[in-house]
Amino acid sequence: MYGYEILHEDILDKLIKNVRKGISQHAYIFEGERGGGSFSAAQLFANTLVCSKEEVSPCGNCTSCILAKAGNHPDISIITRQADKKNIVVEQVRELLKDSAKKPYEDEKKVYIIAYGDDMNEQAQNAFLKLLEEPPEYAVFVILVENIESLLPTVRSRCEIIKFPPVSAEKIKAVLKKICPDIRNADFLAHFSRGNLEKAKKLAKDEGFMPLRSGAIDILLKILSADLAQSYDVAEFAELNKDDAETILKLWSGFLRDIMLIQNDGEKFIVNTDYKDKLINISERTDEKRIVNAMTEVENAYQMLKRYVNLHVLILNLAFRIKKGA
Ligand SMILES: [Zn+2]
Repeated sequence: MYGYEILHEDILDKLIKNVRKGISQHAYIFEGERGGGSFSAAQLFANTLVCSKEEVSPCGNCTSCILAKAGNHPDISIITRQADKKNIVVEQVRELLKDSAKKPYEDEKKVYIIAYGDDMNEQAQNAFLKLLEEPPEYAVFVILVENIESLLPTVRSRCEIIKFPPVSAEKIKAVLKKICPDIRNADFLAHFSRGNLEKAKKLAKDEGFMPLRSGAIDILLKILSADLAQSYDVAEFAELNKDDAETILKLWSGFLRDIMLIQNDGEKFIVNTDYKDKLINISERTDEKRIVNAMTEVENAYQMLKRYVNLHVLILNLAFRIKKGA
């Protein structure tokens, strides 16, 4: 859409139409998962606001459009957390306050994209609030946020809130196929990334991901078969892949969920479509209670992941707990 990778055309259409009519607010909240399309939406929206031909913005030809598209427009600022800091800190907001007091260089608007609002600590938000209370006439703020609850109610109430729902698997699949025409498993990646295009793209480019996945599934099948003679394989797999514990748990959880779906006539909702035959086979051979138990164990392990130091031990422990539940 206008040269930007836009996943929510309907939302952007509405915003752009309003800008062309001269209607815009001082502050917006774009609520949606990181990587789920809200960032490129904010970039296109900012471009639309600074374009010098309001009735046809973004025209794509004026100096403002060219600069915006290249990420070099002097009146568009993106505020992010600095690499060495845990939050967007109050000093950054003070800088923003100072900058916003200066009139736009090029045209009529100055746009500030906060990516992401979740990163602003309370002190930064309070400083930002002052700006929202009396914004300069030409300023537009776009706060990207994953969880709107992380913003103070006083900040929220001064913004127009626009929700960016997860992108459909169909749409993600289409984008993946466009980027890499020979991609296999686009269907699985689109579902596994749960509406997050950036995640799907990253996984598609990651050559280690599909081998990790098939290894993880093989191991899970061994664990479920409760054959203790194979525990050496489990230990070896856990040691080799201890840095990918989170991904492995997600893969296992998705695979177990698919088995449960098949056991409950939900076959059309499964994610691991390329393993359908295997999944049907296991779901026929395995007691439903056992799958539910394994699923709970995976969920528990996921919760522990943040606390556990030794991921190798975590995976091993989980494997034996699932076995014990046989
Ligand atoms: Zn333009």
